[in-house]
Amino acid sequence: MSNSKYSKIKRILVTGGAGFIGSHLCEKLLDQGHEILCVDNCFTGNKSNVYHLMDNPKFEFYRHDITFPLYVEVDEIYNLACPASPIHYQFDPVQTLKTSVHGAINMLGLAKRVKARILQASTSEIYGDPEVHPQPESYWGNVNPIGSRSCYDEGKRCAETLFFDYHRQYGMPIKIARIFNTYGPRMQPDDGRVVSNFILQALRGEPITIYGDGMQTRSFCYVDDLADGLIKMMQTAFSVTGPVNLGNPVEHRILDLAKNIGELTDSPSKIVFRPLPQDDPRRRRPDIRLAETLLQWRPQIPIDIGLRRTINYFRCGAEDNSLGSKDKF
Ligand code: NAD
Ligand code: UDP
Repeated sequence: MSNSKYSKIKRILVTGGAGFIGSHLCEKLLDQGHEILCVDNCFTGNKSNVYHLMDNPKFEFYRHDITFPLYVEVDEIYNLACPASPIHYQFDPVQTLKTSVHGAINMLGLAKRVKARILQASTSEIYGDPEVHPQPESYWGNVNPIGSRSCYDEGKRCAETLFFDYHRQYGMPIKIARIFNTYGPRMQPDDGRVVSNFILQALRGEPITIYGDGMQTRSFCYVDDLADGLIKMMQTAFSVTGPVNLGNPVEHRILDLAKNIGELTDSPSKIVFRPLPQDDPRRRRPDIRLAETLLQWRPQIPIDIGLRRTINYFRCGAEDNSLGSKDKF
């Protein structure tokens, strides 16, 4: 067991740490003085997301697939490993399920052995195409178990089950954060998510592709706010397990997002309409009252500021990945 157990400096494992959210989380935890072990198989993430951290002696990168066991000594585990965008999680659905299920079992087993706290990056997809709006944590969801999104949704649901069973059976400290749509620098340009798609299309002067009529809604949380929420969740008392929704409660129609990005980029792009993908949720907005009460957390970055920073990131060619959550933009 590392000495860090007895000090405020912790040894922290971040799985999926070379991904979009994971890289921001690693950065923040390092800033707080912790030692970070970033584990990632680089399926959707990239070492370039954490190049700027590599010189820090407290940061270590380890290429590893969490569907295989991992033997390390840590005090806390943030389990973020999992492709998150439909294009990527549908590329190899069986591997997506294995990552959520086998990966959770491996990380829970590790947490049990070393007596670490463990946080699961769960998702609003737990609620599927919700019949309750906004979505509180008590809502059980409306999920298609056999559709093309199911490998992700059901995998994440199973991971939540595993976390609670390990908690009940072994008395382990668990935390479940249900993350809603998050955006910001280091989103992957090719992952098909709406914010990155619209920004790149606008910057290139290509048509902005709205799926369906654009009346469907999402609520977008800037990545800095989200990473702060994850850290606050990890710091809660043993009795706080979650699930806790983390997201921005301000809801936007996709059509309005397209117009907003068009204006912020001063783009000549036209809006075009394309077919809606299968099981695409019509409305999504988190009820974050629990996070406000338990974590004293609510998002601080308004959408226009977050979008400007993200636009600047993509405008700079997304080449310098150290540009990110800082106030450069
Ligand atoms: P991302 O794809 O950028 O990051 C995921 C990381 O996990 C990548 O670096 C990838 O290489 C790694 N990974 C995938 N499979 C792995 C495996 N088997 N072993 C080791 N590493 C593996 O996605 P993100 O947006 O940063 O999402 C991070 C987490 O947050 C995911 O668990 C995702 O489900 C969750 N989440 C994200 C959002 C969002 O809007 N971005 C919303 C809800 C939930
Ligand atoms: N979307 C869109 N055009 C795009 C990409 C996405 O209209 O180029 C829509 C998509 O159909 C969905 C919403 O934007 O209704 C959010 O999509 P995303 O994949 O970013 O997130 P998720 O559907 O997982 O919430």
